[in-house]
Amino acid sequence: MKDEKALQAHRSAMDKDLVVAVDLGGTQIRVALCDARGNILKRIAQPACAAEGIEAVFARIVANIHAATSDWSRVRGIGVGAPGTVDPWRGVILEAPNLAGMVAFPIRARLENELRAPVFVGNDANLAALGEQRYGAGRGVANLIYVTIGTGIGGGIVANDRLFLGARGFAGEVGHQTLQADGPRCNCGNVGCLEALAAGPAIARAARDALRAGRASQMRALSDDDVERVTGRIVTHAARDGDALAREILARAGFYIGLGLVSLQHNFDTRLFVLGGGVAINAWDFIYPSIHNTFDEYTMPSMRRDVRIVPAQLGDDAGLLGAAALVNDQMTNGK
Ligand SMILES: [Zn+2]
Repeated sequence: MKDEKALQAHRSAMDKDLVVAVDLGGTQIRVALCDARGNILKRIAQPACAAEGIEAVFARIVANIHAATSDWSRVRGIGVGAPGTVDPWRGVILEAPNLAGMVAFPIRARLENELRAPVFVGNDANLAALGEQRYGAGRGVANLIYVTIGTGIGGGIVANDRLFLGARGFAGEVGHQTLQADGPRCNCGNVGCLEALAAGPAIARAARDALRAGRASQMRALSDDDVERVTGRIVTHAARDGDALAREILARAGFYIGLGLVSLQHNFDTRLFVLGGGVAINAWDFIYPSIHNTFDEYTMPSMRRDVRIVPAQLGDDAGLLGAAALVNDQMTNGK
């Protein structure tokens, strides 16, 4: 009996080799059990059902974590990636409009009460940056910037192997650089943000404007002759079929993304840009050439040397794996 107790103590000190990673999205709650090398051993995904309210969503998060593992003696900690603004030090979701309208929700304290394991929280795009840096396109690169281009544009900055969080934990809002002072209105209230110029909805809007102006394109047929139905996906589809207007619009988005990277490079002197999200991955062949050319043309020569721009590798798992990396970082370096 005594030996067994000693053995257990030894195990808890030495064998906490697993991490539970949680990715809270507006539509899905995803939980994964990961090992220390970033391998996903088990995964669970469930609709968030945000309409049922905050407490129902929270109960679902807890249930999914329990479903991921019952062997708590091996769990080092729980990493949580949350959308919206997050206070990573206090573990509070300050505002997540897409997640049951969570405001000032102390997710770390609530989970630690329920689960008796240390919990670490980060913004989902920041954690995706960390995930790509540890386990994806940025393996072995100490300085990188991750940009996700989908319905919005977000990102994360890894500087000298650590997430750069800023004074409040909000750093990395790379989609809200103003690139056009008299540009279109952005969701954030500003005008001419990168997001308002190059995210999926901006690409779709540019296509609709061109079609209304009478430009010829097979996007008309792809949207059943209803210009209002043109989406970013239709633009990419048409570009793949060789449509000149669709390719022109994606190249224009690539130009703005390139300008965004130029500013980031001048501010952060990074080594690698990792571009993820639906627009970047699906339309890569059509946006990358203009991203690359713009970056080369506008970046100071001394600062553009040896900088690579590559597609992300982890897809939807970047955030989960970043949440796992966050736990490993905190547990090995102290809070
Ligand atoms: Zn904005």
